Amino acid sequence: MDDISLILKALEFAAGRHKSQFRKGSDRSPYINHPIQVANLLANEAKEKDTALIAAAILHDVIEDTVNTKKQKKELIEQIRETFGDEVLSITLEVTDDKSLSKKERKRMQIVHAPKLSEKAKKLKLADKTMNVNDITAHPPVTWPLRRIKKYLDWSEKVVAGLRGVNKKLEDNFDESLKAGREKYK
Ligand code: ZN
Repeated sequence: MDDISLILKALEFAAGRHKSQFRKGSDRSPYINHPIQVANLLANEAKEKDTALIAAAILHDVIEDTVNTKKQKKELIEQIRETFGDEVLSITLEVTDDKSLSKKERKRMQIVHAPKLSEKAKKLKLADKTMNVNDITAHPPVTWPLRRIKKYLDWSEKVVAGLRGVNKKLEDNFDESLKAGREKYK
């Protein structure tokens, strides 16, 4: 498959998987907006043109957020491998949380794992954290009190500490987003 075909295929695939999902922010935007924004940040702001990385960015939340059982997860993993290849699958898996762990443990593991990720997975996670901080800043979930927003920003900063050194532009983007979030919620 050529690059444009692979990226469009990833978009079609992710849009189908996320079709009835919405983001948790107060604006309830369609879920697919998020992976598109992450891929766009990588390609157009941070000048990352690696096709496997961009395809993985589009697919990055599909395994974590669109399966309910272990069997479904296994099937989806095989489908991604067959359609998009081993590299796209491996980057996607690197940024996928283990949902068998508690939410608290998953958040802790993200901090622990960040420095051990491959370079491409680090870039993807940096872009993901940046867009999440932007979303939380612009439209925090209606049920989140101020202290939860602040805690989220602090946690994001800790994860990103382990992702630095792979793309200066991505880091600068994250730092600006974090600063804007802290200015709005203090
Ligand atoms: Zn994400």
